[in-house]
Amino acid sequence: MIVTRFAPSPNGHLHLGHAYAAIVAHDVARAAGGRCLLRIEDIDGARSLPQFAEAFRADLAWLGLEFAEVPAQSTRLATYWAAANRLRDRGLLYPCSCTRAQIAAAATSVGPDGPLYPGTCRRRPIDAKGRIVWRLDMAAAIRSAGPLTWTDAHASEQQATPELFGDVVLVRKDAPASYHLAATLDDAADGITCVTRGMDLFRASHLHRLLQALLGLAVPVWHHHGLLVEAGGRKLAKRDGAPGLTERRLAGEDGRALCDALRARRFPSGIALSEGLHSRSWQTHSSSS
Ligand code: GLU
Repeated sequence: MIVTRFAPSPNGHLHLGHAYAAIVAHDVARAAGGRCLLRIEDIDGARSLPQFAEAFRADLAWLGLEFAEVPAQSTRLATYWAAANRLRDRGLLYPCSCTRAQIAAAATSVGPDGPLYPGTCRRRPIDAKGRIVWRLDMAAAIRSAGPLTWTDAHASEQQATPELFGDVVLVRKDAPASYHLAATLDDAADGITCVTRGMDLFRASHLHRLLQALLGLAVPVWHHHGLLVEAGGRKLAKRDGAPGLTERRLAGEDGRALCDALRARRFPSGIALSEGLHSRSWQTHSSSS
């Protein structure tokens, strides 16, 4: 049975782009007689607020979309910690105390999440205490996993190129997992067979495929969908002035009619669907803070 998920982060209200993502997750599952799950990704420190998660549930119901909710990420920290320990025991993680400014100054290239880590702490084991993150030793991880492929429903088979991310942070200072580790573990734990999400996270799937191999997790297929963009091509963001779903709902708008319009790709003026690859602004998924 096909199982998809919508996995919003409660650090702001949902906007039309989230509604579109929720519709894709919902409809891909329903079209195949499957299930779609709602997972609240709330390990983003002080930025995650329960009132946003409450609003998400009400907004989705207002759109007429039914999701079965699974436990939020904040309830799964022990699982993340255990997985990180397994990687650490195999020598695939190392502690890093570099500041963002040090990394920016020494980095020579930029990956999907920001400046690629220049490797400063890799050969310099430090006392694993204090304000540290744990990074994946990407070269060692790739050697351990060997060549990998993954499948996107539209883009077909991909050779995994996780090296795009360099020595990515898997354990943050403020949480036992970064987005990449937490989402990959959760998708496996939740039995997700088809990961639906925006094209802005297409490249993240290279890394998630590597993590699945390292941790012995089931491998789903991916369905990366287009993003709603403003005129000029900029991705809609939570901070934009355009009314969010909660605001529309509270103003008495018909949520089911909005859902039908988005499903039929009838977007409000000034908003379009872009199928291209968009790099996510790295501040939105800062993995090292
Ligand atoms: N919590 C992530 C976000 O809101 C979800 C990413 C994903 O679907 O994997 O961007």
